[in-house]
Amino acid sequence: MADVVKLPEPTEKVVVNLLRLANTKLPTDVGWALEAAAGWETSDTAAAQLGAIMENVRKADLLARPMCQDTGIPIFWVRGKFDSSIVKDIAVGVEEATKTIPMRPNTVDPLTRQNYGNNLGEGMPIVHFLPTDDDFTEITVLLKGAGSENMTKFAMLNPAEGREGVIKFVTDTVLDAGGRPCPPGIIGIGLGGTADECVAMAKQALLEPLDEENPDPVLRQMEEDLFVKLNSSGLGPMGLGGATTVLGVKIRRAACHTASLPVAVNTGCWATRRASARITATGIKYAQGVRL
Ligand code: SF4
Repeated sequence: MADVVKLPEPTEKVVVNLLRLANTKLPTDVGWALEAAAGWETSDTAAAQLGAIMENVRKADLLARPMCQDTGIPIFWVRGKFDSSIVKDIAVGVEEATKTIPMRPNTVDPLTRQNYGNNLGEGMPIVHFLPTDDDFTEITVLLKGAGSENMTKFAMLNPAEGREGVIKFVTDTVLDAGGRPCPPGIIGIGLGGTADECVAMAKQALLEPLDEENPDPVLRQMEEDLFVKLNSSGLGPMGLGGATTVLGVKIRRAACHTASLPVAVNTGCWATRRASARITATGIKYAQGVRL
């Protein structure tokens, strides 16, 4: 379904298509990174783990079934032109997709733990809005399973800690998480902003295709340094040892208060599942990675 232009469909149907695409097809950039990793691993255990992951991905695609039992919580970004009715359309699409794909009903009340049964509930669906003057509406979804989301960390570092402090915080976060977020995946990092904005940037960073370089040379160098450092750690696929702890590192940056150095890490697992649909007057184009 990726990169196919179709005639316009109701928005809720587009949302179902997006959720099906994200659940059943690993983005090609993530798949290529897994294949490259399989080529450089020398550990039999690591190679076996990567082989099992890739076989799982192939079967999910072939059978049109979710690639992981934890179909996650869908997080949406809407960019371009839209009106407020889009939230209801997205909710209808989530409920429909939960039944038809099917997706595991994951949302519960945080205190009673009662399951809503439809991946909705209070405050759901989570939708971020990015209004622009473009002549399109773009809906992007990221599926976030608990294994990786539970490893999210945020810190207000002392500004004096600087770049080295950031590198240490990210490295400690990834290594402390071990095999729990199902490595190798993508490490999304937010740098700067306020506390809430910093965490949001870390998650948004996971949407960026691995085969697109960060346009900011300073951040690009930090990403490369972290990629080498984390993959030299020996943690490896599923935390069982090897040379592939991460498939990529993506950093987003915003200005911050002179007395603050906020940093956030949001980890994507090997099943970093994302999809976008750009809707114009003439059709819909689906893709599986986007820099917002
Ligand atoms: S961390 Fe990812 S691959 Fe592991 S169980 Fe959760 S969704 Fe699935």
